[in-house]
Amino acid sequence: AKEHGRNRYQLYRSGLIDAVVERLDIDTRLRQALERAELTLHYQPIVALADGRVIGTEALIRWNDPEHGLMRPDVFIPHAERSGAIVPVGAWVLSEACRQAIAWHQDSPEPLSVSVNVSARQFQEPNFVGTVEQALVDSGLPPSRLQLEITEGLLLVVNINVADTLHALKRLGVRLSIDDFGTGYSSLAYLKQLPIDVLKIDRSFVAGIPERMDDAQIATTIITMAHGLGLRVVAEGIETERQVHFLREHGCDYGQGYFIARPLPEKEIARWFPKDHH
Ligand code: C2E
Ligand code: CA
Ligand code: CA
Ligand code: CA
Repeated sequence: AKEHGRNRYQLYRSGLIDAVVERLDIDTRLRQALERAELTLHYQPIVALADGRVIGTEALIRWNDPEHGLMRPDVFIPHAERSGAIVPVGAWVLSEACRQAIAWHQDSPEPLSVSVNVSARQFQEPNFVGTVEQALVDSGLPPSRLQLEITEGLLLVVNINVADTLHALKRLGVRLSIDDFGTGYSSLAYLKQLPIDVLKIDRSFVAGIPERMDDAQIATTIITMAHGLGLRVVAEGIETERQVHFLREHGCDYGQGYFIARPLPEKEIARWFPKDHH
């Protein structure tokens, strides 16, 4: 018994039990948050850099916790990924974003898309493609108006066939983008094998533009390579006018960032869209 007690103490000291308790706690609280409608989506406009017109938005989750206020996803998404709560939460994000996007779609003379972040854990669920299809069918959103953002890390997952899932999503008609492009460790070979439509230049490179030669060089190389492969490019995290100019001059297709607009609540996003005049 003494031996047992010491092991338990060591477990405590190692932080293992804390981690387990915390995980269960976040899991329960997130699932409750879902039921209590404490989760909400903000939308950040994405514009065509050539003429500034809005082409769509990225949906970004927020948790309006009565105790902690509005929480950013960096605080709870990593927990939700470990606990698995990201699966129901992610399904909610998909259906909510599609529901919202169809309303814009019906109001706007221009086609607008919505981008949804998909975590690796969610993507690996056996029924992920079915969940996406369900969100499209329930909302009536044309599949080409939905863009799924995945990270390069996902391409290294070995226990499912990532390529099969990506092709199945492509057959649904949705668009696929690689988020935080250039920060992962996967080989570039996937770009010619997988049905990717868009690369998103990570904010860390955009931040150094135009002053830092290395960041500027990486960004322009990504743009050239993407266009050579028939892909579109979004620069994220644009915070200055000089970044807009540089990226536009170097042919970057689209941009998003605080300089253009912050992520906005559902009620405030509509004013960003072109209005139907007839
Ligand atoms: P991300 O997908 O790379 O999203 C871009 C993040 O950069 C967002 O942070 C956005 O608010 C922020 N951002 C946009 N423009 C600027 C800028 O000009 N400067 C700076 N400094 N930041 C900018 P946010 O909303 O806190 O989201 C953080 C991350 O959480 C996201 O990074 C994404 O990985 C994850 N996330 C957000 N929503 C979801 C979701 O619905 N599902 C999943 N699985 N992950 C999500
Ligand atoms: Ca993203
Ligand atoms: Ca990103
Ligand atoms: Ca990121």
